[in-house]
Amino acid sequence: MRRKAKGTGVKMIPFLDLKAQFLGLKPEIEREVSRVFSNGRFILGENVGLFEKEFAAYCGGKHCVGVGNGTDALYLSLASCGVASGSEVATVSHTAVATGTAIYGAGATPVFVDIDPLTFTMDAKKLERAITPKTKAILPVHLYGHPCDLSQIYEIAERHSLPVVEDCAQAHGSEFRGKKLPWRGGIGSYRFYPTKNLGAYGDAGAILTGDEKLAGKLRMLRDYGRRDRHRQGFHGLNSRLDELQAAFLRVKLRHLDEWNGMRRQHANLYGELLQGVATPKEMKWAKHNYHLYVIRSKKRDRLQAFLAKKGIGAEIHYPVPLHLQDSWKFLPKKRLPETEKACNEVLSLPIYPELSQSQIERVAQAVNGCP
Ligand SMILES: *Cc1c(COP(=O)(O)O)cnc(C)c1O
Repeated sequence: MRRKAKGTGVKMIPFLDLKAQFLGLKPEIEREVSRVFSNGRFILGENVGLFEKEFAAYCGGKHCVGVGNGTDALYLSLASCGVASGSEVATVSHTAVATGTAIYGAGATPVFVDIDPLTFTMDAKKLERAITPKTKAILPVHLYGHPCDLSQIYEIAERHSLPVVEDCAQAHGSEFRGKKLPWRGGIGSYRFYPTKNLGAYGDAGAILTGDEKLAGKLRMLRDYGRRDRHRQGFHGLNSRLDELQAAFLRVKLRHLDEWNGMRRQHANLYGELLQGVATPKEMKWAKHNYHLYVIRSKKRDRLQAFLAKKGIGAEIHYPVPLHLQDSWKFLPKKRLPETEKACNEVLSLPIYPELSQSQIERVAQAVNGCP
């Protein structure tokens, strides 16, 4: 029995339904569990190596290094390009807390750049002002799955000889100028949290890079900094992509394009039906994977409560920007007008592949009918 909204007799539309996806994959997933258990190799086995090859090929990149989760992927990416205690990292405040956690973990300080209100990503025009002699990296976030304006960001990065670490945590399959991310052999940090477009059944992450030397260093960093079983070159983490998760990710990677295609169809339909709210824009140089379908409304809180009463799950990504979190209180005060405005207006509607046309119509009708 599906849950029903209280007193309405109508089926709920949850924000996300991971069970629906699992039911479609059940035989494949069960076969993989059985295979990995029979092989008896649970850490850095064949599935990790194969997933790394397959995901690198999918992204059009050269090297992929699987790690334990997305925060470690970002932390290790930063550490591998020299970000350390005393460094500054130019990034955005409108993102998941994990982006900041990775910077903190590396001993560095974030310098926040305001966002472009149309794409919700780093406003490249405001980036240069955030760069100081202490800046050691630029960390743009492809938020909601819409890529940042990378040509401008890389142009500034090159002028200042700074590495770019792209936070691709929400951008599996998204494209900038027809190419998947990270752009031009750069460094991209992915996470496969269960709710992502490509999600594991637990924690998992990966780093992509076109630089073979960097990839080698990252392979050591994820395994204590070991060169081989008995030799440790430097200090690293214990953060390996789990063999079982790698096996699941290989199964799911084969479906990613189809799932992203369905999300894009859903986004089109929402775009046709929704009224009175600002719908997501896709820039002409971008391909959005619609990890989240984020609308803007001046009456956001009222709208979310109204949808909840109709049995529709809608969530806020993110209500509190990093620069207003208690954890970052020690940073110098800074106003980020577009970020703060977005935090008060954004609302994410359900957009998983398994949604039906009639469910999307019901969500749109409810949004349009909110007084
Ligand atoms: C999902 C997500 C995370 C969480 O990653 P973990 O693997 O849980 O560390 C972090 N940052 C962004 C932008 C995300 O979308």
